[in-house]
Amino acid sequence: MTTDIRNVIVIGSGPAGYTAALYTARASLKPLVFEGSVTAGGALMNTTEVENYPGFSDGIMGPELMDQMRAQAERFGAELISDDVASVDLSGEIKTVTDATGTVHRARTVIVSTGSQHRKLNLPTEDELSGRGVSYCATCDGFFFREQDIAVVGGGDTAIEEATFLSRFARSVTVVHRRDTLRASKAMQERAFADLKISFAWDSEVAEIHEKETKLSGLTLKNTKTGETSELAVTGLFVAIGHDPRVELFEGVLDFDEDGFLKVDAPSTRTNIPGVFAAGDVVDHTYRQAITAAGTGCSAALDAERYLAALI
Ligand code: FAD
Repeated sequence: MTTDIRNVIVIGSGPAGYTAALYTARASLKPLVFEGSVTAGGALMNTTEVENYPGFSDGIMGPELMDQMRAQAERFGAELISDDVASVDLSGEIKTVTDATGTVHRARTVIVSTGSQHRKLNLPTEDELSGRGVSYCATCDGFFFREQDIAVVGGGDTAIEEATFLSRFARSVTVVHRRDTLRASKAMQERAFADLKISFAWDSEVAEIHEKETKLSGLTLKNTKTGETSELAVTGLFVAIGHDPRVELFEGVLDFDEDGFLKVDAPSTRTNIPGVFAAGDVVDHTYRQAITAAGTGCSAALDAERYLAALI
């Protein structure tokens, strides 16, 4: 089945997608939004309190924030479909987006906001304790760990930057790293080595995450060379081993940067294909915040609007 030609299709329903939908809906462009079948609302659906989204002085629960964004986009006429996009053809002036039922949707512009997925340790209690001691974002959650002993897993730039940031709040930070040297930049390493609150568990990986009264209560570490185990008494675990952007649909179609994220002609949200724009964490591996995703979602909507205006 093929539908009428739309002005805008938005793929993704996190802060970037809903903001793009809100702006294009208010510009009377009647956007169609694919929210995804599993995590409609995006990454914040899996978290509790969000304290750093401007406008909510007492904080707001992640799912409530996303419900509000969704309702705001709908109020101005965005059409939402809680389904996945299965394939795209972005090459011509009219783009096609095929959903999981096989229906082909057509549009003059497409805004990609499919987000990214943080890498997990894949340990048994990890998902259960996410938001209860296990975190994937120091900027988001560091404040909750004031005067606590915490661990950061990883050895790259993100891990060391997060450890240094967390040492402002925490009583102690232990960096758990599989190897005996870091991959992070020299300057970042030096800052971490000079920080008296930061120590290192070299050649180590997290073997077990312990739980007490539904909260993280400690870790068992395993030495990657000797196999010996040891206990680490912490109440927080920050996993900083990388993010994977959701770009499978666009392989061989859109340009990627050297880290595998979608490449845009910054500060615009234009991709290498005219009429295709990208916003949020699928582009951004630096800031990765709800507010920055919403900000670039707005930019993508304005870019799409201008592109459409130039077609007339
Ligand atoms: P996402 O929110 O990831 O949304 C992407 C959407 O695309 C999803 O809905 C997905 O279903 C959809 N999608 C993907 N593929 C398809 C497809 N093929 N078809 C249709 N839909 C598709 N940031 C803060 O600012 N403050 C916080 O306190 C905070 N806490 C966080 C806590 C957790 C546990 C996590 C994981 C993140 C947190 N973040 C926080 C980061 C923030 O959630 C992200 O930066 C933000 O959600 C990124 O928005 P996005 O719109 O780019 O992508």
